[in-house]
Amino acid sequence: MVAELNVLSTWIPEQMSPGTLFVLENAGEVGETADPFWAVLACPECGTLGLITRRQIVGLLPVICGSETCSAQFFIREGAVEPRKAS
Ligand SMILES: [Zn+2]
Repeated sequence: MVAELNVLSTWIPEQMSPGTLFVLENAGEVGETADPFWAVLACPECGTLGLITRRQIVGLLPVICGSETCSAQFFIREGAVEPRKAS
């Protein structure tokens, strides 16, 4: 798993390698009001793209990879990836 997030300022799908984050142009305007979608993240383990919310990007909620073949669970902490400890 990639340990550091790489933030893209321009949406370039070819550059969405594992651990790459792209903040949505309409961040905060879609999804739930209490916890809207904020960015697209390429799973640091397998590279599968997924939407993450504001609470996930600030580390309040864990990010769980949406791929059926990947079980990555992690927190985002100040631009770094912190694997979630198995409970
Ligand atoms: Zn994954």
